[in-house]
Amino acid sequence: MNTPDWLTRARALTLTIQNFIEGGYTDSSTGAALLDKHSPRDGRLLYQLGSGSTDDVNHAVATAQAAFDDGCWQGLPLSHRQAVLHKLADLLDSHREELALYESLDVGKPISQALNGDMPGISSRLRKSVDLADKLFEPARGDGSNFSIQLRKPLGVVGAIVGWNYPLSLAVTKLAPALVMGNSVVLKPSEFSSLSAGRLAELATEAGVPPGVLNVVHGAGNTVGAALAQHTDVRLLSFTGSSATGKRIMMAAGQSNMKRVILECGGKSPYLVFDDCPENLDFLAADIVQTAFANQGALCSSSTRLLVQDTVMDALLPKIIAATEKLNPQDPLNPDTDFGAIINENHLNKILGYINSGQQEGATLVTGGHRLTPSASDDISQGYYLKPAIFTDVDPEQKIAREEIFGPVLSVFSFKDEADAIRLANNSCYGLAAYTATTDLSRTYRLLQRLNAGSIVVIGTSSPGPGGFANLGFEPHRESGMGTESGLASLVACSINSVAHLMTQP
Ligand code: NAD
Repeated sequence: MNTPDWLTRARALTLTIQNFIEGGYTDSSTGAALLDKHSPRDGRLLYQLGSGSTDDVNHAVATAQAAFDDGCWQGLPLSHRQAVLHKLADLLDSHREELALYESLDVGKPISQALNGDMPGISSRLRKSVDLADKLFEPARGDGSNFSIQLRKPLGVVGAIVGWNYPLSLAVTKLAPALVMGNSVVLKPSEFSSLSAGRLAELATEAGVPPGVLNVVHGAGNTVGAALAQHTDVRLLSFTGSSATGKRIMMAAGQSNMKRVILECGGKSPYLVFDDCPENLDFLAADIVQTAFANQGALCSSSTRLLVQDTVMDALLPKIIAATEKLNPQDPLNPDTDFGAIINENHLNKILGYINSGQQEGATLVTGGHRLTPSASDDISQGYYLKPAIFTDVDPEQKIAREEIFGPVLSVFSFKDEADAIRLANNSCYGLAAYTATTDLSRTYRLLQRLNAGSIVVIGTSSPGPGGFANLGFEPHRESGMGTESGLASLVACSINSVAHLMTQP
């Protein structure tokens, strides 16, 4: 197969952002200010979108509620909903090039990673989530004449608000459990990455999701997002974004109708390397760099704090620095690019501000940390490119050690023993992910119990076998959020567990 010319394809696109309500595109309310979206790759204006209004949200929620009430989706047999959502997964696969291009243009992520990493993961997660619904059914229990049945009912309208780093993936992760359980959905994409959501809703309609069941409202967080979080007909608000916004969502839920919330928020995840780590340090260095800098460091679960036992530091750190220096920020539309652009100028400046603060507070910048201009077939000199940065001599109380940067900045610490490592790792307001390289099973068990993280990856070998992991839901804790949007627990969260007791004639 020929490699597509992504730039030519991108230039041929007409990018318009419209709400998707009741099975079709519709303009947002007039009068709302326009937001400019600039391209991460070259800084040029990519598209504009309306900042949206409460009226837009009210329209979408009323439509979703009407679709819920008329039973066109929740009234279908589960197997029918599952078949429709499987068809959606097939459509996502067959449109993967188009969708990957939207993700790359919006986020600045390398097109090859969007196509070969994001896209297969999205459809497979959708299928797994949909298939899990079979496992939810509870048995009826009786004693001859009287018996009890457990019913799992949909909630009604689910609001889904997502961040910008994996637009389609975050949206599908939220829609899958909500839709398979029979709910209607109003999706609000990030105003910084609005391209794929409308297409997702279109494909869902093509797959057979009835009009009104999946709606998309674009716009700013403080207008559209806030109105959705406050809406009294929204029964669950499933949110992915920063912890600061997550706290606002909790308040809005309490001030309005006590809607359920699922909050998938920020992190500052540690990667602990012990002196009994797998022997192949090149493998380990590559994994550390990948886990810290994937998606230009814009990943909630990035391991941005590297904790290395002092006895391995001298052997490992040079390998990590060398692997990081090989990451070469390039045009995201070049299929050979492995490290793309930062989403926008504000975010680039925020990351540069953190790098500056690290230096001001006494940490040592050992590599990267500067803006640069890659060469490309056209002028991308105004794009937002940053060489990944590594700091050593970091004090755990420094800003770069404590705050989520959401960019390619890694802080390295050394520790003496396991107790020291756990203390450092848990010295964070977050509780999302942790990574540990050790071959000691007893230590692994202690770490699993004691690390403050909902997801813990153990690197116990440098030659892992093929195959993936199960779709088990994990719960973020502390200021990383609450609830879960994967596994069986997400299906429970998207439904009401109710019990019917039936008295019959003996
Ligand atoms: P953000 O909080 O700025 O925005 C997220 C979404 O919330 C956007 O759609 C935004 O418009 C909306 N929003 C903003 N203000 C709002 C308000 N007052 N009321 C309602 N909605 C509002 O986050 P972001 O910068 O888009 O995303 C980055 C953050 O997301 C990082 O903290 C990252 O760790 C987190 N994230 C977490 C996960 C996870 O699974 N835990 C996954 C991806 C990203």
